[in-house]
Amino acid sequence: MSMTFWIPAAPTTPKRESCMCAQMAPSFFNEPEPDWDELAKHASADCWLCKGEGCFIEQESTAPSLNMSNANCRDVTELLGLGRDEGGSLSHEQAPEVLRRALKALNIPGRAESIAREGFQEGRMIQGGTTVESVRARLMGVIKVLKYAVENKNEVVWG
Ligand SMILES: [Zn+2]
Repeated sequence: MSMTFWIPAAPTTPKRESCMCAQMAPSFFNEPEPDWDELAKHASADCWLCKGEGCFIEQESTAPSLNMSNANCRDVTELLGLGRDEGGSLSHEQAPEVLRRALKALNIPGRAESIAREGFQEGRMIQGGTTVESVRARLMGVIKVLKYAVENKNEVVWG
C-alpha cells in the first residue's frame, strides 16, 4: 500500500501513456516515447483501457507530488506534527508552518535520523528498513509539494 502527498486543485495536462497490452512492440520501452504507430499494431483489439489504440490519455498533475509506502508516510507526517493517520489534508493557510517544520526536519541534525530504521541487522534485511538518505529524499519531496501549495495557495492532501 502506498500514500501520495499531492495537490488536488493543481491544473492537469493531458499526457499520452503507452498501454501494457502493447508491450510486445519493440519500441515499447523507448525513451522519451515509443513509436505510437507500432504500439497500435501490437495492441490488443479488445483491451478495455486503450480499445486497441496501444495508448491512452491520462491527465497528469502539473504540481509536484510524492508517493511513499504507508509506513514511511506515517513517519514523515508524524515528524511534521501531522499525526499518523492514513490520510489528511492541510489548508494553504496551514502549509507555511508545515513547510517550516519540514525544512527544520531536513536541516537540524538528528531529525531525519530519528525516523530512519536500519535496513540491515547482523547482515540480514529488516522489513521496512529505511536509510537517513531516503528519509531526507522524502522530506525534500514533501517540501516541493508544500512550497507549491504555499506559492499557489492550494490545499495539500495525503492518503
Ligand atoms: Zn491496451
